[in-house]
Amino acid sequence: MPSSIDSLLRVRMSWTQAAGKAIARGETLRESIADEIGRFYDLLTESLVTGDPRWLEPFLQGWLDSQARSDISGEDVPPSLVPVLHALREALLETATHSLSPEEAMQLVTAVDPIFSRSSEFVARQEVRQGMAVVSSRLAEVQYALERLDRSKSTFIAVAAHELKTPLTLIEGYSSMLRELLNGGPSHAPLLLDGVSKGARRLKEIIDDMIDVSKIDNNMLSLHFQPVWLRQLIDLARGALEETLAERQLTFVVHEFAGDHEMTFADPERLLQAILNVLRNAVKYTPDGGQIAIHGRVLPGFIEMTVTDSGIGIAPEDQTRIFEKFGRVGDPSLHSSSKTHFMGGGPGLGLPIAKGILEAHGGAIWAESPGFDKEALPGSTFHLMIPLRSSPPDDKSARLFGLAEADHTPVESELPESAAGDAAS
Ligand code: ADP
Repeated sequence: MPSSIDSLLRVRMSWTQAAGKAIARGETLRESIADEIGRFYDLLTESLVTGDPRWLEPFLQGWLDSQARSDISGEDVPPSLVPVLHALREALLETATHSLSPEEAMQLVTAVDPIFSRSSEFVARQEVRQGMAVVSSRLAEVQYALERLDRSKSTFIAVAAHELKTPLTLIEGYSSMLRELLNGGPSHAPLLLDGVSKGARRLKEIIDDMIDVSKIDNNMLSLHFQPVWLRQLIDLARGALEETLAERQLTFVVHEFAGDHEMTFADPERLLQAILNVLRNAVKYTPDGGQIAIHGRVLPGFIEMTVTDSGIGIAPEDQTRIFEKFGRVGDPSLHSSSKTHFMGGGPGLGLPIAKGILEAHGGAIWAESPGFDKEALPGSTFHLMIPLRSSPPDDKSARLFGLAEADHTPVESELPESAAGDAAS
């Protein structure tokens, strides 16, 4: 019986024709790939002669590359070559059955099958690799587009905030001038002007929040480190909220805790802003007659302060989202924009700002709540982690407090870049 190599040589003509028919439909196309099929046949023969199926791999790689290149329209991943290999094998089987004796045909198919299997495996592996490359480059494009979108969003906030602030300052100035001019005029004039001022003040606060958020987004929040005692900040916050707490009949309990009288270096104004944002939310989301309590403890390197309220609580799926800008939850149409009314709502910037401030200090903030329930009022607890520092994190401020060099322990590495950079500038 002739060898399988002889059998392969005998079926060359009829196989190349059958193969051309099987893989290319049009007459012109068939002509153009006849050479390719001839080359495939030669390498198949080479593999059979040497017993090494890898002869076909560089050629198949060429096919794969030209397939990928022809897909210039960017239509995802090109069609697979595995069915093409399958069609070539089927054509060989058919031709062998017609042109050879059953034994010779069986011998030839048995000899070439491992080569076809190995080639299919190679092609499939390379195609997966190509597919992954396409997917990851698409992902990179999408990520780039998203980053650009995020950048333009925060640029928009910055520009809008600055543009809005200028006319607002004018309204404020003119309304206080008018108030003075109208002194002794119609009795309701001061009342109306108070309304204008109140509206302008609230708008200014919102704009200030927008500016703060864009500073945080762009790592431009400047911190001015000074000695800070948490108890003093809590007392200041209590003072700022006193009127509202009384109006809303809310009980505010501040428990003594280790660390509340301890000195640490921080930016007192910014830290107070963060604490007030959390406390104002506790007020807003707790119905009249409820309770707000402050606890705390000292942990290695940190003072942990907690603000617990007996309010509506926060659903587990929202406990992270509320710290994202404009991440307010609930129905915006029910939103009264009041800073103190029950469920007053706001633009959703208070918590992102608190988070930005704490993180710029090297601290953290998170929320815990059994869930959201307006009837059962499960309440929420906000944890504020404030780093304990015996000196400011930058040399310049440290020198100012006589804590430079020898007595200053550098802690830049604990800080996010923005805080260390800003504090030093
Ligand atoms: P807002 O201006 O809407 O109050 P914040 O960033 O301060 O924005 O808060 C985001 C959202 O987090 C709020 O809209 C509210 O749904 C939820 N939230 C914040 N604090 C509390 C709290 N103590 N209890 C229940 N929900 C809260």
